[in-house]
Amino acid sequence: MKKILVTGGAGFVGSHLCERLLNEGNQVICLDNYFTGDKRNIIHLMDNHFFEVVRHDVIMPYFVEVDQIYNLACPASPIHYQYNPIKTTKTSVMGAINMLGLAKRIKARVLQASTSEVYGDPEVHPQKEDYWGHVNPIGIRSCYDEGKRCAETLFMDYHNQNKVDIKIVRIFNTYGPKMHPSDGRVVSNFIIQALQNQDITVYGDGLQTRSFQYVDDLVEAMIRMMNTENFIGPVNVGNPNEFTILELAQKVIKLTNSNSKIIYLPMPQDDPTQRRPDISLAKEKLNNWKPEIELNEGLVKTISYFDNLLKEIGPIS
Ligand code: NAD
Ligand code: UDP
Repeated sequence: MKKILVTGGAGFVGSHLCERLLNEGNQVICLDNYFTGDKRNIIHLMDNHFFEVVRHDVIMPYFVEVDQIYNLACPASPIHYQYNPIKTTKTSVMGAINMLGLAKRIKARVLQASTSEVYGDPEVHPQKEDYWGHVNPIGIRSCYDEGKRCAETLFMDYHNQNKVDIKIVRIFNTYGPKMHPSDGRVVSNFIIQALQNQDITVYGDGLQTRSFQYVDDLVEAMIRMMNTENFIGPVNVGNPNEFTILELAQKVIKLTNSNSKIIYLPMPQDDPTQRRPDISLAKEKLNNWKPEIELNEGLVKTISYFDNLLKEIGPIS
């Protein structure tokens, strides 16, 4: 039985990860400040004696004895990370310093939830790990993109200078049950709009692309990465099947039998025009890992989750 700290454990990905780690017989400490996380995501785990929840902000040091740390604490949707951009950068950078300092003291292994945003609006397609990216350092997405880039730098420097046992995973767009219903990310937005027969808000012409990964595939890859020897990353983790945002809107309308109409709104500043991971390194290093759940199947599961949520909490505007 391992003792594992998950920062951001009450969020979308973190709550799935905590559940899976507990199911595998580990002790889990879930640390969160509840900025975008929700106790409802983890309430079903509270009866488990091996699950502890701590309200804490990663910009402050935290002391605990654990074997492994998954560092996920950071708002991930553009609406939430742009709400208080200074805090977003602090969370990425000071959170990384605090978790790396902790890992150094207690000799724990620490995994950073990095992002495809380190590639910015990429000029190379698909993106491989050796691409350095095309990131605006002073735009509205910079607090997140540059915060995560600096966190990667810190991880590598703690590894090289202090021999801290690190792992870096670059996560591409991930969706699934327990996404925050108001975080404005495209999959949850379109599903909630379609289920309520509201207009589907496509930004720009909808021809920008993303590659959508179901959350269970991500959790599997993160756990494999954490438990791999002699490989620190960075490694891309995502589903390489690429869709335009317009295609996604059409799929969601079809799968929900919705009467929604597509409307076009202005494209946000610095919105990447294309994104698709090259996952050959993940396949090679993570025991032949590859995504198992394709978009239609994942959308059906996610639609069912939001359908139940809307019945429980009422309409969302
Ligand atoms: P999320 O917003 O649902 O979860 C983030 C969690 O971190 C929330 O529970 C939030 O309350 C917590 N948090 C935020 N700031 C904190 C702070 N200062 N101290 C303590 N807790 C704090 O987002 P998510 O989609 O679950 O993302 C989890 C991680 O994965 C993030 O680091 C994100 O950058 C990364 N990631 C996610 C995606 C994706 O598509 N979901 C893609 C790339 C990277
Ligand atoms: N998007 C959209 N309508 C929405 C929400 C998002 O067209 O209601 C677009 C957004 O402009 C971007 C893509 O969908 O091109 C993915 O957006 P999201 O916020 O989910 O993730 P990110 O831009 O961080 O990849």
